[in-house]
Amino acid sequence: MEEIKITRTEHPKEKTPSDKLGFGKVFSDHMFLMNYDEGQGWHDPRIVPYGPIELMPCANVFHYAQEIFEGLKAYRTAEGTVQLFRPTENIKRMNNSAARLCIPQIPEDIYLEALKKLVEVDADWVPEDYGTSLYLRPFVIATDAQLGVHAGHHYIFCIIASPSGSYYPEGMAPVKIMIENRDVRAVRGGTGYAKCGGNYAASLRAGEEAEKRGFSQVLWLDGVHMKYIEEVGAMNVMFKINGRVVTPDISGGTVLPGITRKSCIEVLRDWGYQVEERDISVDELIDAAENGALEEAWGCGTAAVISPMGMLSYDGKDHVIHNNEIGPLTQRLYDELTGIQWGKVPDQRGWIVKVC
Ligand SMILES: *Cc1c(COP(=O)(O)O)cnc(C)c1O
Repeated sequence: MEEIKITRTEHPKEKTPSDKLGFGKVFSDHMFLMNYDEGQGWHDPRIVPYGPIELMPCANVFHYAQEIFEGLKAYRTAEGTVQLFRPTENIKRMNNSAARLCIPQIPEDIYLEALKKLVEVDADWVPEDYGTSLYLRPFVIATDAQLGVHAGHHYIFCIIASPSGSYYPEGMAPVKIMIENRDVRAVRGGTGYAKCGGNYAASLRAGEEAEKRGFSQVLWLDGVHMKYIEEVGAMNVMFKINGRVVTPDISGGTVLPGITRKSCIEVLRDWGYQVEERDISVDELIDAAENGALEEAWGCGTAAVISPMGMLSYDGKDHVIHNNEIGPLTQRLYDELTGIQWGKVPDQRGWIVKVC
């Protein structure tokens, strides 16, 4: 494995107080870079001062969106140590996304070392308060300077780090969700399971419209029948119906295989819950909401961890879930996962990777 070369900044930036951070607006002093050139493979792994990347206007990524990304966090424990949550899951998923987008595989050992080294170099940037974190954003872009529609021969792998405030500065609160029946996020054979920028570009319109109507996110339906539930916004989704937890099956390739989703399923099964990964039609869901069988509903993803749903709107009709209050299982899952991530709850499953 090629050694990561470190060039420290000579102009460290001033830190923003953690109540003013928000999400993804402030960036740490350094970033990780590595290049790929055909014939040479991945080379020159390095940590350098955070700053602009220079590309030709014709660079592949600007036109044909050959891009993939990941999202994970570094957490500071009450003892002051810094840790990652299941980072090898992000590494494996990024390589699955890479395979779909014709991007060369990134060696897992260099990737993990890059995450750890960057967090170590920028350890001062991991905020202290419970709920705050250093958000890590690895991404790959195709940089070929030509307009032909082909997979690139040259790439940049970059990791940037953004100290982020708590997702719930005023405490976790249920959100209103609109079931989307015009736009779709993914189709069979497409890129739904890959974490790529193109999926997000296509999802913006529905999200903007929903916000205008007073909802915080949309619930996506499948692209073939407009009938089966897929995801909520950029999160996976779970429902508690008649005591069991139900979540959309990911084997069709249209749902992003979330690491929070996977972790929720493992924790729920350990607690003795039956978790069903299967198709859920919007009719089944609305029936369950109407006859009282729908007990709780939540979204799950790295940013929010757990996001309780208080209301579902479909075809102009509103359905309140659990009195628009946080359900007990939703709360318990949130407490367990955040407890492990911030080091309050013992990590019995080997999910934590200590950095420094
Ligand atoms: C990243 C992402 C998720 C959540 O994945 P986590 O690994 O739990 O953060 C869910 N859906 C979409 C579309 C995503 O991009």
